[in-house]
Amino acid sequence: MAGYGAFSLAVVAASERNPQRSTRQIPLARSAVTGQRIGGALIEVASDIAYRRLGIVNVAFLGTPGAGDRGWVLIDAGLPGSARAIAAAAAHRFGPTARPAAIILTHGHFDHVGALKALAEKWEAPIYAHPLEHPYLVGLRSYPEADPGVGGGLMSALSPLYPRHPIEVTDRLFPLPPDGTIPGAPGWQWLHTPGHTPGHVALWRASDRTLLSGDAIITTRQESAASVTTQTPELHGPPAYFTPDWQAAEHSIRLLAGLRPAHILSGHGRAVSGPALLPALDDLAGLDLQSLFSPVFNPKGLPAFVEDMLQTVT
Ligand SMILES: [Zn+2]
Ligand SMILES: [Zn+2]
Repeated sequence: MAGYGAFSLAVVAASERNPQRSTRQIPLARSAVTGQRIGGALIEVASDIAYRRLGIVNVAFLGTPGAGDRGWVLIDAGLPGSARAIAAAAAHRFGPTARPAAIILTHGHFDHVGALKALAEKWEAPIYAHPLEHPYLVGLRSYPEADPGVGGGLMSALSPLYPRHPIEVTDRLFPLPPDGTIPGAPGWQWLHTPGHTPGHVALWRASDRTLLSGDAIITTRQESAASVTTQTPELHGPPAYFTPDWQAAEHSIRLLAGLRPAHILSGHGRAVSGPALLPALDDLAGLDLQSLFSPVFNPKGLPAFVEDMLQTVT
């Protein structure tokens, strides 16, 4: 980059930080982060819930250690190229030959289904998703174009590059049971939480008030590469660049806040719990996300993601 360009960017980073255009939502103290690092690159948040972070996204494992063949369930399937890492984590936790009873999808975005086909075939496992998500999983429909203008971060700016074409897992795909149960995961129920995608679901276990929120509520500012890198905890609506229906998204947030969860494990960011969670959830439910995510530009006309980029590389 020419000296002038670099200088301009430095000026932006140093002097033009404007809280008005911040799309940070509800900050959480680091003390809200929960979970214990165990082997297999896993973080355990309950005796029968663990997750693994794969770059920018999480996958969750439901089931007790050593559960054995068909004794556990995988939630979502990470980025393309992560099949081996997911399988290794599963083998570590449940046994070297332990296949899941099912793979459950919160939704079909590329960062949640990247290893799906490979894993479903390897494990001969059924895949369950909400019927409204099926067109994106049977090769029929692409997700709407990403909106790079929202959120003001590098992840948003890059979002037109993210794959949005459908995958094709027709042979193994089933609708989630209409009674709200989750195959292979007794005690859990699924809840339709559209907005981010039409067939997005969250998973809820009332006995310990644990919420697997998918992308309906996330715990980092996913639009920002800096926040994604540091995993700074905050309660946050769905990743903005990929959310076409804000009215539904806000309704889904209110639905999930109304459950009064004690623990949240989301698709992006760290698992969180503790006394700060419910007030923060109420604050999030009160936000007008749609207006927060109008395109943001700094006064010099340079896109806000430049600042984010600088934060990431410095
Ligand atoms: Zn998503
Ligand atoms: Zn996601």
